[in-house]
Amino acid sequence: MARRDDRLREYRSRRSPDRTPEPDGVEGRDAAPGNRFVIQEHHARRLHWDLRLEHEGALASWALPRGIPTDPDHNRLAVRTEDHPLSYLDFEGEIPAGEYGAGQMSIWDRGTYVAEKFEPEKVMVTLEGERVSGRFAIFRTRGDDWMIHRMDPPPADRDPFPERLEPMKATLSADLPGDDEAWGFEVKWDGVRAIAYCQPGHLRLESRNLREITAQYPEVRGLVEQLGAREAVLDGELVAFDDSARPSFQRLQRRMHVGSEAEVRRRMGEVPVTYLAFDLIYLDGHLLLDRPYEERRAELESLELDGGSWQTPAYHRGDGAAMLEASRVRGLEGVIAKRLASTYSPGRRSRDWLKVKNSRSQEVVIGGWLPGKGRREGEIGSLLVGYYEDGDGEPRLRYAGKVGTGFDAADLRLLAERLVPLRREDSPFDGRQPERGAVFVDPVLVCEVAFAEWTRAGTLRHPSFKGLRDDKAARDVIREEPQAPGR
Ligand code: MN
Repeated sequence: MARRDDRLREYRSRRSPDRTPEPDGVEGRDAAPGNRFVIQEHHARRLHWDLRLEHEGALASWALPRGIPTDPDHNRLAVRTEDHPLSYLDFEGEIPAGEYGAGQMSIWDRGTYVAEKFEPEKVMVTLEGERVSGRFAIFRTRGDDWMIHRMDPPPADRDPFPERLEPMKATLSADLPGDDEAWGFEVKWDGVRAIAYCQPGHLRLESRNLREITAQYPEVRGLVEQLGAREAVLDGELVAFDDSARPSFQRLQRRMHVGSEAEVRRRMGEVPVTYLAFDLIYLDGHLLLDRPYEERRAELESLELDGGSWQTPAYHRGDGAAMLEASRVRGLEGVIAKRLASTYSPGRRSRDWLKVKNSRSQEVVIGGWLPGKGRREGEIGSLLVGYYEDGDGEPRLRYAGKVGTGFDAADLRLLAERLVPLRREDSPFDGRQPERGAVFVDPVLVCEVAFAEWTRAGTLRHPSFKGLRDDKAARDVIREEPQAPGR
């Protein structure tokens, strides 16, 4: 038998020709040396890209879980797979469930290549395709594991993929902006802010204090499957909805403070989250920071993100008052107004983004608790909270009152678990002190409270616990006062 037939034995042994639309692997000899290549996007159990190089009458093949590298600093894994028949160069289609490689396969790129080296453990080629061009080295590391390395510099007009961006922040505003038509309005989502770094086959979610939180929210991973080979950095909010389809920060608590993978999986079934993407910072080699909000939104919408656990909520041009009223009627927290012409400033609290709330909430630092009485005897009765104020030197923790409502049994258990190890003798508060009987703690935990208003003494009137936040450093918690919208 021809040598090529031997090379395709493994290919044939893995497939039943009557059950898969793939080529059968029995075909006439083609003695031409051949220099074609194909890259197929394969939505199998795990998304990957299959790189196949025509070589000695068959297709030498590698599966690339993270696609083709775009710059020389980041090599990517390339798993050697069985040789495929030449007719696979044109194959696209659905491999049926239950069959080897089940899932949708489509041609992502194709073209020709020039080989400088084609050895059993090292291949050096220049690919000339429609999407991919450049010089690559593919070399074996161990077993079937190879790496693919881009030898050329990245394309000259490519911005490097960003890392560790702090989200842009909105200024609390007492009112809607006056020049309505110059603004876009979005619902203010009551959840956890997250930047989503999406690269082929890889997602990283980072909270606003730059902590990686990807493992907490496995259901969002499908976002990168939908984006395929596209590279994007999104800004958005992770939200859990309550039974009346309102975002519930309290319900999200069940997902925020979970350690083990098994526990994450279990709670994912009970309290599913949705990632609501409302901004686009980077797309396919281009940073969009300097582009106006309106253009970034148009690009974002063109991605048509619409999975079960990720969405792009709509925004409205103008009509801020109607939007705020609608949000109040639906029991939502408020709206965010974003100036249509504004650029994206990472980490800045900008006046180009204004949050206008229907109800007031504030982040506070927990400095201690008062033991419960009656039914809550032996438990935490109320939390003693404060905020930082910049003094002459060190920032000082100001007492802002006690929070005695809004908890359920699970909240109280979690609070006790977190607070007991932080106990200390002296008060962390500077100036005014809470009442007698207080148990003090190191002021490191941050929680969010809803409240009616600030008293003249600088304490919270009718505060109610909404949940712990671990995406903010205690030292950054200050008293937030609504600003006039300005122009
Ligand atoms: Mn494959």
